[in-house]
Amino acid sequence: MIKTDIRSYFPILDQEINGHPLVYLDSAATTQKPIQVIEAIKHYYENENSNVHRGVHTLGNRATDSYEGAREKVRKFINAKSTEEIIFTRGTTDSLNMVAASFGRANVGEGDEIVITYMEHHSNLIPWQQLAKEKNATLKYIDMNPDGTLSMDKVKEAITDQTKIVSIAFASNVLGTVNPIKEIAAVAHAHGAVIVVDGAQGVPHFKTDVQDLDCDFLAFSGHKMCGPTGIGVLYGKKEHLENMEPLDFGGEMISIVGLYESTWADLPYKFEGGTPNIAGAIGLGAAIDFLEEIGMDNIIEHEHNLSRYAIEKLSAIDGVSIYGPHDPTKRSGLVTFNIDGVHPHDVATILDMEGIAVRAGHHCAQPLMKWLECTATARASFYVYNTEADIDRLVEGLRTAKEYFANVNE
Ligand code: PMP
Repeated sequence: MIKTDIRSYFPILDQEINGHPLVYLDSAATTQKPIQVIEAIKHYYENENSNVHRGVHTLGNRATDSYEGAREKVRKFINAKSTEEIIFTRGTTDSLNMVAASFGRANVGEGDEIVITYMEHHSNLIPWQQLAKEKNATLKYIDMNPDGTLSMDKVKEAITDQTKIVSIAFASNVLGTVNPIKEIAAVAHAHGAVIVVDGAQGVPHFKTDVQDLDCDFLAFSGHKMCGPTGIGVLYGKKEHLENMEPLDFGGEMISIVGLYESTWADLPYKFEGGTPNIAGAIGLGAAIDFLEEIGMDNIIEHEHNLSRYAIEKLSAIDGVSIYGPHDPTKRSGLVTFNIDGVHPHDVATILDMEGIAVRAGHHCAQPLMKWLECTATARASFYVYNTEADIDRLVEGLRTAKEYFANVNE
């Protein structure tokens, strides 16, 4: 049973930074890890550590069972049909690059279109830029509404019979916008295109059902959902994965190796060349157990409540602009903002002096910054362990930053 005081599961939060109790508001960059995840990794190294899929000995079997057990947890978590469709990767960036380099290279040709949006993280932009250049294909952007949402009219305008791939963020890491993936998938499929979902800011926050969304690929990272760094997932429909070429050649991913020709292992192993991140996968499995015990519906409800509270409190500060849709139910748990006359890096530095961690910069979304007509923003992002009291501290810190710069600029 999970206690109501969720914060108490996160040892790192119980410390002072610059003489103030830590308020961690940078979960969109990476989340903190609960004791259950830390213990699962420790347990693995203390009791099971061995290589997977090849040992006849007991430790090898234990490690394999735990690693494959984690894969089954991931499958169930996103409701994939089979564990053959779950590939462990290094994270979202790795997963998206795999789709572009394998599926993309084989299926996109000269004159074809790849459709993305202005709100994409660089990880869901540069792999497609590179592919478009290599294949002489066209990279097309879906226009956004002024509040940073997508309208289906614009989606339908952008996707044509020339479109081969549509790749879209489940939720924006800057605007918080949650995109209508199921509707966009239907449009993509009607034109014979596939839809790739960058789930980095979606899967950790709300229930994700790949069969209901009918997405062809879904990428996400363990470290943004209470899991360790260095582990992530690429979900792909079996019909696509079966026809795709592997990218990492070597051990683990082969079936029969001859002197000049070799054949590949079955799914998903054909895409997992080399010794995998076993402890990472086990840690991710423990993170999924933890999130499921809290309940994904409770998590998004909690984030909506925090976003509503934060938008209300921040809007009341003179000179603060908030980006993205203002309706908290249309977004995930983050608020991106700027204060008139104060650079976001200065905002983040003053907040850090008060023990409050926020992110400042372009958030790996430079085309979006251009669209927003600014060079950088500050971002406060929330997760299961944040409370309204954290937002009160943020508001206090922002008032301090404003006063400080008002005096400096006088
Ligand atoms: N996409 C989005 C929307 C993200 O927010 C991030 C991480 N900030 C990524 C992709 C990349 O994730 P990772 O660094 O874990 O590969």
